[in-house]
Amino acid sequence: MNIQTTRKRLEERQRDLEQIIRAAEEQGATDEPQTAVSGEMAGTDQHTADAAADTMEREMALSVKESTEAHLADVRRAFTRLEDGTYGRCLVCDTPIPEGRLEAKPEAEYCVQHEPAALPTEGAA
Ligand SMILES: [Zn+2]
Repeated sequence: MNIQTTRKRLEERQRDLEQIIRAAEEQGATDEPQTAVSGEMAGTDQHTADAAADTMEREMALSVKESTEAHLADVRRAFTRLEDGTYGRCLVCDTPIPEGRLEAKPEAEYCVQHEPAALPTEGAA
């Protein structure tokens, strides 16, 4: 595994994610109460419908922002692991994660077997 290439991959990933977060924030994904930034154009009849649409758009943007921030946290952890030499190994079984998998998902923390998404989510007592 080439550390330089990996670092670059992670940096690109980080930049992409930060852009998505910024875009989401521009769509209103902020914690601040909404102030009339985009309103007061011409028609007042449209106002209520616009406000409802704005709310929906803001909620969608907010959920995009939240999931992207979680993803960004994964990428940041990958940077840390790259520093301390544990990068590229499954957190559960310590098996090296296949290079192809790291190419597709440089922030991967698990081998295919232990990827949380691949585990049964419920009812597996
Ligand atoms: Zn594993």
